[in-house]
Amino acid sequence: MLDIVGNLESVKKRIQLAQAQSGRSTDSVILLAVSKTKPAEDIIRAIEAGQRCFGESYVQEAVDKIRQIGRGDIEWHFIGPIQSNKSRLIAENFNWVHSVDRLKIAQRLSDQRLEDQPPLNICLQVNVSDEESKSGISLDELPALAEAVIKLPRIKLRGLMAIPAKSSYQDEQRSEFRKLSESLTQINHQFSIEMDTLSMGMSNDLDAAIAEGATIVRIGSDIFGSRNY
Ligand SMILES: *Cc1c(COP(=O)(O)O)cnc(C)c1O
Repeated sequence: MLDIVGNLESVKKRIQLAQAQSGRSTDSVILLAVSKTKPAEDIIRAIEAGQRCFGESYVQEAVDKIRQIGRGDIEWHFIGPIQSNKSRLIAENFNWVHSVDRLKIAQRLSDQRLEDQPPLNICLQVNVSDEESKSGISLDELPALAEAVIKLPRIKLRGLMAIPAKSSYQDEQRSEFRKLSESLTQINHQFSIEMDTLSMGMSNDLDAAIAEGATIVRIGSDIFGSRNY
């Protein structure tokens, strides 16, 4: 039987162990529970167990669940591909967007964020493994995009996100994550900014991501079970 509360506990233990092994302080990594395709009841069970940050990938499905569950002290993170005609729903309903990979979308999110809301937290999605099929801006084009996004008034550039090519080897996983963390350092230096977020690590590679400095790990199936689309 699906045991969301038990799964949350064991994912949190894994995060704590990975933090300790890489000499990082406890609570330096935020657990984002990825609830895409899962019903509101599952999210509510996780909330009752103390979980506060949730990740969603499909706009309409997510907005329906946000309306049902409400906001309260919950943080909603959008992590899926963004179509321009859905940007307004994203700008108005989420606290964070991890998957911004072009200027046009960043501009729309900034324009559409409501006046009485705090700036929308943004991560730029980077295609670190240079895969043709993946979304994300290339490492080469990232600095120019960052420079333009910094100037937008209603969004706040918090960091970088990546979904590297799948590998079961820790050292391969780590070298992909390292590219993202080195870019963050370099861009912070180049533009004198203080991005503080590395959104990297999923169910099968969270240990490697934490060893390379992840500050948000995005975990779906290890909490809510496998997904049937
Ligand atoms: C689905 C998804 C996840 C969670 O993946 P799991 O393998 O289920 O942990 C993380 N990040 C993104 C961007 C996703 O779309």
